Amino acid sequence: MNVVCLDLEGVLVPEIWIAFAKTAGIPELERTTRDEPDYDKLMEYRLDILREHGLGLKEIQEVIAKIDPMPGAREFLDEVRQIAQVIIISDTFSQFAKPLMQKLGFPTIFCNELVVNDTTGEITGYKMRCPETKLTTVRALHQAGLQTIASGDSYNDVGMILNSKAGFFFRTIDALKKEYPDVPAYTEYSELLQAIKAAL
Ligand SMILES: [Mg+2]
Repeated sequence: MNVVCLDLEGVLVPEIWIAFAKTAGIPELERTTRDEPDYDKLMEYRLDILREHGLGLKEIQEVIAKIDPMPGAREFLDEVRQIAQVIIISDTFSQFAKPLMQKLGFPTIFCNELVVNDTTGEITGYKMRCPETKLTTVRALHQAGLQTIASGDSYNDVGMILNSKAGFFFRTIDALKKEYPDVPAYTEYSELLQAIKAAL
């Protein structure tokens, strides 16, 4: 049995932190895993900036509620879900993902958790499910007797892409295309859907 493992941000929805940075007027928050491959470093950097600006979960969630999936994402996902099992594997946090999952028809998502101070709303930290979340998840699926087909746009997707029976970049950056020339790179949902169908 096949499981299609999809990245969320950059593939189905815009980068949540970039959308937040633009609305809040804090350009320093526009750094993503594309700029800083070390996710722990990136998150510490983001949380420090939020603290400096006195911004909590509520303010971020208000922005996320306004973000829409990329045009065509819902239709693409609905089509893939008709032909295979789909899991969105994301390094985002459940508190951020919820309003977006509603707009995508509540697909299955495996992501992480923010640690939030209930009284002040301050984000005090975060809990990753496990090291190398995406790669670890596809390996666990393989151990459970499943085959995976993976797609993502960024550095943290490379592990699951290379270790799946088929893997594709979607709307990725030139540096990754150059570094992994054997991984097909697509920009349109129709191309990715076709590639997934061929790999099933
Ligand atoms: Mg991404």
